[in-house]
Amino acid sequence: MQCTCIAPNRAYVVRTMAKMRAVQISKPNAQLQLVERNIPDPRPGTVRIKLEACGICHSDSGVVSGVLPGIEYPRVPGHEVLGFIDAVGTGVASWKAGDRVGVGWNGGYDGTCDACRRGEFFACVTQQVAGATFDGGYADYMIAPTSALARAPAELVATEGAPLLCAGVTTFNGLRNSGALGGDLVAILGIGGLGHLAVQYAAKMGFRTVAIARGRDKESLARKLGAVHYIDGAATNVAAELLKLGGAKVILATATSSKAMSDALGGLGPGGKLVVIGVGPEPIEASPFLLLSGNRSIAGWYSGVSIDSQDTLAFSLLSGVRPMVEVFPLEQAPQAYARMMSGAARFRVVLSMTNS
Ligand SMILES: [Zn+2]
Ligand SMILES: [Zn+2]
Repeated sequence: MQCTCIAPNRAYVVRTMAKMRAVQISKPNAQLQLVERNIPDPRPGTVRIKLEACGICHSDSGVVSGVLPGIEYPRVPGHEVLGFIDAVGTGVASWKAGDRVGVGWNGGYDGTCDACRRGEFFACVTQQVAGATFDGGYADYMIAPTSALARAPAELVATEGAPLLCAGVTTFNGLRNSGALGGDLVAILGIGGLGHLAVQYAAKMGFRTVAIARGRDKESLARKLGAVHYIDGAATNVAAELLKLGGAKVILATATSSKAMSDALGGLGPGGKLVVIGVGPEPIEASPFLLLSGNRSIAGWYSGVSIDSQDTLAFSLLSGVRPMVEVFPLEQAPQAYARMMSGAARFRVVLSMTNS
């Protein structure tokens, strides 16, 4: 698109507006589509980010399919974003061009609603979602409110840092808020996109880390990532195996099988907690007697807000936790998305804007 201006000398000049690549979804269940757009300018209270990389998360399917309510189309998905600020809007004081930043699922909060005033920013009533309520990271540039920004260390490789903004913070924050202490038995249920990070975080936090998956395929990897025990959920009774190890203080459920969660519950020790971060459609079944007789509980943990993401990036750098990634150039976003949806990726699929 071009804009035509009349110069003071009345001669016509044509100014070509700067363009960028974006991958959008035009309506629910349409194909992802590579388009050219004008590079947007930051509004007051927001920054423009020149993107290095963006992870593709299963939650993006909620935007592609239209399952997430209230989305306006066309929409650019993407909420595992890493890049550099290259322009700031008016009223932005604490961020500047050149700052390296990340943006995750939580796309900002207002700081004024009752939930925010109680410090529960994740529950903000006007909460925004990156790549859902505003355009996200499947593009060369995006605009984000400052409340969505996490400071990103320079040392992180972009394509390894991006998945930490959703898969990373979800597992890291779930574990550090679980109540488990160093030395406690902590089980990671499911070794996939979330689980392979959770095993690393749990080991680095000093937990006796148990990896649980179906079959033996992932055992050697799980042990390499830091698990000291491995339970084959297809061949053994998970609850009984956990009890043999003393009973879990925490089971972090990263898989989407509610049945697997129900089956593992009996492996909680006294005061143990099943922390749910994987989402399946079926209900979890629990014996009331099991819960009350051992002070056991089932809880969910919302991923985190921008400061949690910042902590996740810093901890990952400190401890050496990194995702295993498959990298695609931005223009191959449809193939990359299909690869993620296939469930066969090992383990996170990431778009790179710099290696096209
Ligand atoms: Zn996500
Ligand atoms: Zn709020």
